[in-house]
Amino acid sequence: MPTIFCVGKNYADHVREMGDAVEASDPPVVFLKPWTALVHPPDPIRLPTDIGEIQHEVEVVVRVGADRQPEQVALGLDLTARTLQGEAKRRGLPWAAAKGFRGSAPVGPFVPVEDAPPLDALRFTLTVNGKIRQRGDTATMIRPVPTLLEWIDDWFGLAEGDLVFTGTPEGVGPLGVGNAVALCASDSAALGTSWSVVE
Ligand code: MG
Repeated sequence: MPTIFCVGKNYADHVREMGDAVEASDPPVVFLKPWTALVHPPDPIRLPTDIGEIQHEVEVVVRVGADRQPEQVALGLDLTARTLQGEAKRRGLPWAAAKGFRGSAPVGPFVPVEDAPPLDALRFTLTVNGKIRQRGDTATMIRPVPTLLEWIDDWFGLAEGDLVFTGTPEGVGPLGVGNAVALCASDSAALGTSWSVVE
């Protein structure tokens, strides 16, 4: 099964909205989710209850090939139990529970990179109940995809089929049962996907 690597703090506007700062000399912020976090359409997003606020983070997701280079791309959600994550940050504890709960990694259809917009010029949106909540453009990443993959491969080791969530732009917010979520990419209908959110 794939390892799911997730990159944090990779868009300056999102770093600011979280009240954080990032130094160019800092290593990337990388955390993991278990493969059991994956959800693919048409399965719905099932949110755990009674764990406080859960927020959406729309991200470009890269699947690496045997050469450890990007092979396929998708749009996905790094669902985050923000209340739990806030507690973990305050207490200096890991984010694993807040980031890696079952179903916390919904991912849309994968498209071969040669059939998708360039990984450094991919514009995407997240819509909840018909309203755009997040807009991103990979051209504005603090660290572009090749830099991320090289760093992750050096540090952790990448294998064919591993997934890399490449960070979220600003506009993260709560997701709730009954919401309808849609992810879209400019210039690529094939990357578009949608989910209903259930309990
Ligand atoms: Mg994220």
